[in-house]
Amino acid sequence: TPGIRPLIAGNWKMNGLKASVRELGQMIDGYDPELRGRVELMVCPPATLLSTFAVVALGSRIAIGAQDCHARPSGAHTGDISAEMIADTGATAVIVGHSERRQDHGETDEAVRAKAEAARRAGLVAVICVGETEAERRADKTLDRIGDQLDGSVPDGSLAAGLVIAYEPVWAIGTGLTPTPADVAEVHAFIRERLSTRFPGEGCRMRILYGGSVKPANAADLLAVRHVDGALVGGASLKAADFLAIAEAL
Ligand code: PEP
Repeated sequence: TPGIRPLIAGNWKMNGLKASVRELGQMIDGYDPELRGRVELMVCPPATLLSTFAVVALGSRIAIGAQDCHARPSGAHTGDISAEMIADTGATAVIVGHSERRQDHGETDEAVRAKAEAARRAGLVAVICVGETEAERRADKTLDRIGDQLDGSVPDGSLAAGLVIAYEPVWAIGTGLTPTPADVAEVHAFIRERLSTRFPGEGCRMRILYGGSVKPANAADLLAVRHVDGALVGGASLKAADFLAIAEAL
């Protein structure tokens, strides 16, 4: 989209140990000035590596993000991590409402919205994920579902600088399947319209990423689609060479 700086974000999910810092180092080395001029990079490691990655990435212009946060700033919530704690590590973003969180942890749109509000309170960029299931696509309910998720998950008063939407069809995540460019175009245009209507002056500048089985081989086709302002990458973000190759495809 004209006027929007593209973003390639890597979601490492429950992968990565201390030794993975080397992979981040290779990403930093490969993120040369030419690439930096064209695209922003973000890496979202598991919470255990957040502090280390934030320190290692300092000065590299690669942003570090978390994969989830609790809605409250602190308190009796064993095992949870607040947006303020994430910000305290030096990370600058957090993914909320990933389909694996929605599925495995029963997160509702309302819960995701509260987490996105927490991100904003802590000064983090919220990467809010939406996407239809295979059954919803077959039943021709894709746009209804995405519309409901946007209305329910995106906080009022959201600003382009603090919000990224990731469109991730659930059936495309980790499956090797991807929608056609025409299908991606339809959903992204719908999301752009919805955001622009609800957030005048801001919605037209919010980044809309595509996610779901993005790989070096298909990145150029997917990233060329109108209103695709980058990608959220799972499996292919674990290896520096693949992650950088996806960024180069822009
Ligand atoms: C994701 O889970 O955010 C994702 C896009 O995964 P993958 O690229 O592995 O399909």
